[in-house]
Amino acid sequence: MVNEKLAILGGPKAIKTEFKKYNSIGTEELEAAKKVIEDGSLSKFVGCWEPEFYGGNKVQEFERLCEKTFNVKYAISVNSWTSGLIAAVGAIGIQPGDEIIVTPWTMCATATAILHWNAIPVFADIESETFNIDPESVRKNISPYTKAIMAVDIFGHSCDIDSLMEIAEEFNLKIIGDTAQAPGTFNKNRVTGSIAHVGGYSLNRHKHIQTGEGGICVTNDKQISENLQLIRNHAEAVVGDKGHSDLTNMVGYNFRMGEIEAAIGIEQIKKMNKFVQSRIDTAEKLTNQLSGIPGLKLPIVKPKCTHSYYMYPMIIDTEIIKVPRKKIQDALEAEGMQGLDPGYINVHRLPMYQEKIAYGSSGFPWNSEICKREISYKKGICPVAEELHDKSYLGFNNCDYDITDNEINSIGFAYKKVFSQLELL
Ligand SMILES: *Cc1c(COP(=O)(O)O)cnc(C)c1O
Repeated sequence: MVNEKLAILGGPKAIKTEFKKYNSIGTEELEAAKKVIEDGSLSKFVGCWEPEFYGGNKVQEFERLCEKTFNVKYAISVNSWTSGLIAAVGAIGIQPGDEIIVTPWTMCATATAILHWNAIPVFADIESETFNIDPESVRKNISPYTKAIMAVDIFGHSCDIDSLMEIAEEFNLKIIGDTAQAPGTFNKNRVTGSIAHVGGYSLNRHKHIQTGEGGICVTNDKQISENLQLIRNHAEAVVGDKGHSDLTNMVGYNFRMGEIEAAIGIEQIKKMNKFVQSRIDTAEKLTNQLSGIPGLKLPIVKPKCTHSYYMYPMIIDTEIIKVPRKKIQDALEAEGMQGLDPGYINVHRLPMYQEKIAYGSSGFPWNSEICKREISYKKGICPVAEELHDKSYLGFNNCDYDITDNEINSIGFAYKKVFSQLELL
């Protein structure tokens, strides 16, 4: 298709510019933060049983806005989504040794939230189309000890929430949703993240909308929302005064969001759809440029779903292309391509799981009596995720950059150049 000499072999670079960093923060956020600072109350939370137990004005305004935006009864802000995940696992009443089925294709915080309550992560494989947890593999991993499924809407595409809810009903499990990468997306007209028993969104600086650090838990269950609020705010210090009698998982934390972050969050939520649309626009233009390249699989969107393209996921079809991924990546980067991510993450292959050491150094919780059966994290338990990780996945960090139309054209040219001369690599 394109015969220009490859940059990696000394030819000219296809992409000559440095991609501009994505930045969702503007003057509205500056003004909002300034007002809070002028007001002088950077947080109004108290850890005792007073009206401010639920936080300051901005925190509460932000939460009510999130409830509308994500179409849920309760939104509970937290100081990171990692905190939110920990609170969510605690809030559904998990007991030590309970098993939670989780996807390996996610950020490690999803799985470590399980370990924080001395529960046991069990990894199910993923679908190669959307990279989300595969309901069939979930079924195979259910044991008498399974209590919940942790489903991530990875890269911006909803997981198969209907199949997972069916499984949850059949086996009396709870679903925890991690929608960190898919705010503002839909699955059959339902807001992604609003269907799980408890779920939420990240507001860290890498995400579509951000408050620097921050997160939002969402649920339609009153009891879960109350548990989240307690765990967020030193639960055990307040349960007595509040008249709360159930002490399950009431080891409290300080997961509270500050007023500055909440004020910024309000402005970010207002702009969310615009930012998500900007990611979609870039992705669609990339698809235009890259479609038709033999051996390069582009992202799909399932019927009646939308995608927020936190990542623009691509797969090298190893049936057609025999050149190792690393060589293709090197050639693309020599052409000036930026933001490539080979392999994403296989959480089960992190050292903690391979060595089975989480707390202390003697193998807790796996070697203790709370762990009721042998759990394997060995290579081979998630063949689809492992093959993508080891060989074929090569994504673009679409939420890291604001690329121009000219750059998108140059990316198209770079890919065509490299993929039509693979035999030279
Ligand atoms: C970003 C992210 C998290 C963690 O969120 P923080 O706000 O950084 O703690 C968890 N899960 C997924 C899938 C993420 O992308």
